[in-house]
Amino acid sequence: MAESAAGDSCQAKVGFHGPVFYNPVQEFNRDLTVTVLRQFSEDHQNFQKEQSEKTDEPPRKKNKLAINEDGKIRILDALSASGLRALRFSKEVPDVGFIMANDFSDNAVASIQENVKLNGVEDIVEAHFGDAVMTMMEHRGIDKRFHAVDLDPYGTASTFLDSAVQCVADRGILMVTCTDMAVLCGNTPEACYNKYDAVTTRMKCCHEVGLRILLRAIDSAANRYTRYIEPLVSISVDFYVRVFVRVHTGAFQAKRSGTKVGTVLVCSGCHAMEPLPMLKRGEDKQENKYSLPTIRHTLTGPDSLCIHCSHRLHQIGPIYLAPIHSKPFVTSLLNRLKSTPEAERLGTHGRLQGVLTMVNEELDEILYYEHDQMANVVKVSVPKAQSVRSAILHAGYQVSGSHCNPKAVKTNAPMQLLWDIYRQV
Ligand code: SAM
Repeated sequence: MAESAAGDSCQAKVGFHGPVFYNPVQEFNRDLTVTVLRQFSEDHQNFQKEQSEKTDEPPRKKNKLAINEDGKIRILDALSASGLRALRFSKEVPDVGFIMANDFSDNAVASIQENVKLNGVEDIVEAHFGDAVMTMMEHRGIDKRFHAVDLDPYGTASTFLDSAVQCVADRGILMVTCTDMAVLCGNTPEACYNKYDAVTTRMKCCHEVGLRILLRAIDSAANRYTRYIEPLVSISVDFYVRVFVRVHTGAFQAKRSGTKVGTVLVCSGCHAMEPLPMLKRGEDKQENKYSLPTIRHTLTGPDSLCIHCSHRLHQIGPIYLAPIHSKPFVTSLLNRLKSTPEAERLGTHGRLQGVLTMVNEELDEILYYEHDQMANVVKVSVPKAQSVRSAILHAGYQVSGSHCNPKAVKTNAPMQLLWDIYRQV
């Protein structure tokens, strides 16, 4: 019996064959994905055009990694359920040539087939029965890869990352959801270690830590194949994290990944934090050489306790230490949301604008402190957030919030100065 996906403000009609997963709460996730893919598609067309202007050779010869000659993009919806995402992409994203909607459930594939017919998109969307890992491995050859791959699993996406990074075309986009927030937020460090090769603890900034653990896991998977990621936008909302990363091929940049990941020392008493990158890049002419950083922790005092309060230090990570969003990309998403009628029709248009505006204002600083906790540490009543921000700016430092936490204080101001500000405002 066909139902309509009432929550999604999409142009696709969706029916269900047996018990097939459909979560209306994820409408924001799907609207964001459609918006990102619209921008990705436009950037892809512009890139192809630029490349063909550089030389008169046909695109396939010029760019040995180009996988199709018509310039249209190929998308894999690897964990497709009812096929709703694939249908929305086929109707709402321009210049899409082919979408594979894959699932390993008979009911899901039957639903996808039904929905493809219902929507008349048989020429673009193919329902595919298969284990996602196998399907992705079968498409890792250069001429079989996808420009965009969507991973939207139940729980963790960690088991899909190795095959996913291999089947994304060069400059393609990988879009990953994880809903195992308890694991990513430090409730079970042993599960986090098993799934993501990282450990963390419960912290006020745990949602950004979760995003950075996932980004490190994707980059690390990519590095094994001389590839690396460029995060475009990384979001923590509701009960999940969602990251959009470009995947590039290149030995030189892949070698730099060790400088972009590291652990973070966290004080269990005053919550001060210090990032420790895995590798250090050589200076000037030596910049292709990498070495281990010398141990010179500013947070560690006598007996390896925190220098500020003599409490124990924890070491969390490894996490991704480089910027987690591309500001030019987020700005183009915001312009698109402001100026295109199809964006205004999205059911979560207002929320998209709100979240992406916050994202755009975020400093590229690693992690954040929480306003109430800072006041608590120095034992003062909680001051007005605006007064703290003004004092930080007045002292010559930068400050922003974070979309991950309404009470976040993201700043490059030193810890001691921050506490002084909380004591004085
Ligand atoms: N993306 C869908 C949406 O937006 O409505 C929801 C996907 S649902 C959370 C996860 C789907 O992944 C289920 O339909 C399940 O059958 C499928 N799945 C889980 N593991 C899989 C695997 N290894 N290979 C293929 N499909 C898988």
